[in-house]
Amino acid sequence: PSSEGSVASLITSGKKKIAIMTSGGDSAGMNAVVRAVVRAGIHYDCDVFGIYDGYNGLVSGGNMIKKMDWYDVRGWLSLGGTLIGTARNKEFRERSGRLKAAYNLVSNGIDSLVVCGGDGSLTGADLFRSDWPSLMEELVSTGKLTEMQVAPYKRLSIVGLVGSIDNDMAMTDRTIGAFSALERIIEMVDYIDATATSHSRAFVIEVMGRHCGWLALMAGISTGADYIFIPERPDDATNWKDKLSKVCMRHREKGHRKTTVIVAEGAIDNENKPITSEDVKKVLVDLGLDTRVTQLGHVQRGGTACAYDRMLGTLQGVEAVKAVLEDDGKSPSPMIGILEGKIVRKPLLEAVKLTKSVAAAIAAKDFDKAMSLRDSEFAECYNNYIETTMYDDGSHKLPEDQRLNIAVVHVGAPTSALNAATRSMALYSFAKGHRLFAIQNGFAGLIRHGAVRELHYNDVNSWYNLGGSVIGTNRSLPSQDMGTIAYYFQKYNFDGLVLVGGYEAFTSLQELQEARKQYPIFNIPMVAIPATVSNNVPGTEYSLGSDTCMNELVKYCDAIKQSASASRKRVFVIEVQGGYCGYIASYISLITGAIASYTPEEKISLKKIREDISLLEESFKNDGGENRSGKIFIRNEKASKIFTTELITDIIAEQSHGKFGSRTAIPGHVQQGNYPSSLDRVNANRLGVKACEFIEKWNSKIDWKLNDSFHDESDPKLRFRYVNGVKFETVKDSSELSACVVSIQGSHIGFRSVVELMRSGEVDEKFRKSKKIFWSNYTEANDMLSGKLYVKK
Ligand code: ATP
Repeated sequence: PSSEGSVASLITSGKKKIAIMTSGGDSAGMNAVVRAVVRAGIHYDCDVFGIYDGYNGLVSGGNMIKKMDWYDVRGWLSLGGTLIGTARNKEFRERSGRLKAAYNLVSNGIDSLVVCGGDGSLTGADLFRSDWPSLMEELVSTGKLTEMQVAPYKRLSIVGLVGSIDNDMAMTDRTIGAFSALERIIEMVDYIDATATSHSRAFVIEVMGRHCGWLALMAGISTGADYIFIPERPDDATNWKDKLSKVCMRHREKGHRKTTVIVAEGAIDNENKPITSEDVKKVLVDLGLDTRVTQLGHVQRGGTACAYDRMLGTLQGVEAVKAVLEDDGKSPSPMIGILEGKIVRKPLLEAVKLTKSVAAAIAAKDFDKAMSLRDSEFAECYNNYIETTMYDDGSHKLPEDQRLNIAVVHVGAPTSALNAATRSMALYSFAKGHRLFAIQNGFAGLIRHGAVRELHYNDVNSWYNLGGSVIGTNRSLPSQDMGTIAYYFQKYNFDGLVLVGGYEAFTSLQELQEARKQYPIFNIPMVAIPATVSNNVPGTEYSLGSDTCMNELVKYCDAIKQSASASRKRVFVIEVQGGYCGYIASYISLITGAIASYTPEEKISLKKIREDISLLEESFKNDGGENRSGKIFIRNEKASKIFTTELITDIIAEQSHGKFGSRTAIPGHVQQGNYPSSLDRVNANRLGVKACEFIEKWNSKIDWKLNDSFHDESDPKLRFRYVNGVKFETVKDSSELSACVVSIQGSHIGFRSVVELMRSGEVDEKFRKSKKIFWSNYTEANDMLSGKLYVKK
């Protein structure tokens, strides 16, 4: 601890002093948080301190609490784990430990604490805040500090960030690190798949999650697992072995050459008796399967953060600093979360309480409650998993007269989750007794060759991790020959169409909906699943394949940055895809810490380039010894006709007067990715099922009432219209609503009618994108954290 003299000097300074610590189990993305808190804090004129080794550092003080400089966190985005360390600390659980921690904070003049960790760490932080006034009193009464010294520290601002691989925190859709851990898991299971298939083996794969089955469930979906065990939905103690055996054998009989079972660390039966990987193995061995167990263990925590976690950690870190600065002491400590794609503040204590109630519900065998306490995405994903994996026994087939012929077509450039989405559509359809027909090679394939192929179980079953498009994709639009398309729709008697693709899929849907007047055969429900790396489809904030693209680009940019930092004095201008949409460029700039980004939305000017070069020079000036980082500029492919990637590269070289060199790098089609990312696989499953449900619900053959989520909220007249029992050809009034784009906002999935979207003025037809820029906060945060605003000051 510092001497009292230095405390007094600190007290006189009016600057806000924020400390950041990481605590509990490490998770990828914690470094992004620390970087963002340090830089956003400095940007807002605060002093920022890093507390090393979690509550250990807070309790011991001394050199475990260090003031952080802007350049101390340079390059941290691409590094795994947490560089300020984490630990578990018993002392802080006791008041005596918290008293030492309080003394250490006041000694350093710190009045605000940002904690990134799991529910334990956040509970501790909130307890610290409620204890704070009495801790101050005790420090004075025991003579450790004087009244005057503690006077400026009447209250402690606490802000929580959820860093956890389990994704188990209530009031936030996602936690920092969960998708990185899932990414590691699916990568490992993909490797295991190859050997399992070669030897026709069964693998039991144990993943982390003591009280939470999120990783196991999402891994099960992403790897086409035959069976999963999660604590929230335990199987019956009396028959889980039979059930497991039946499902695995049935899948084998259908043609599976391998068996994959994912077991959460905390898996139990409904009597709360643990189900271990070894228990599962015994069942599979009894079936005669050559079975191995793989415990993935700490591999799951390893490695660099995926794109999503870098984004989440960065935006939430900035928000945490804002929350500290806006804390007036009247509202409860906030926890920064993300709901429906928006960064939000929620009461920390309430979120922790709700989280703990899941474990309590499981302990009390109230599994329905445990499930209901998880977010709605969890329950939906679980149901989708069951529907696409377990109902292949025929038990959920609809009566003959309600079964449909569903068509699927891939439109536009390939992206990595097209096959995964088609697989889930197929498996869902088969379970219901529908038939799924693939229109091959897009509308061109249909027009030229009448290329339609019915998909069967064994065609699609292994498509969960297969990039590209097995059925083929093509950019051509239906308007090329609407009559021929109508002919084939009649020939195959399609009851619904799912289009999967980017802006071309959107345009195709629009054309088909317009053609309904001329060709009544198109009066069938039609739905477009957005799938494009550019993420430019109107009506949605997410498109399948865009996350895989970001992960590919992150790897690419990390490698380029490393090369740039090793060669010293070199900058790369990286050209990324995106058409006229700057989403990719803005996102990748944020998560790689690019010096500058050039997008079609923001005009490039000489003034901007000059400012960016000044920032680059400033950044080079501060490179020294081991503290160096590669420098990159990101330019969207269509950002400007004049300022091409080559020209910007040349201007930089010219302006540097020999002080540094510049190079161009173009990842090109690598951005489409090889294997789909975990986030894309999970969403492919959700969107595939949703699209089929949409078609079922709009089809008059099925006696459904329309669900609210299928309606445009902004049009109350249409909101409660039913197609219940109406002959399909006569649903003309409702037809606007039966041609929709799947609209994804964060974890929420809805539908937007293509006609309503066109009316809304949101569609930029000239530049083939949505006019809505939902990522402007990425640009703002990157301007702040790249140092642009800092240097200007
Ligand atoms: P993980 O998700 O990895 O479990 P966590 O933050 O929940 O992360 P914990 O081990 O529960 O991990 O907590 C981390 C540290 O937070 C503990 O070692 C302890 O120092 C502090 N802590 C946890 N719970 C409390 C509490 N009730 N009171 C005071 N401090 C606590």
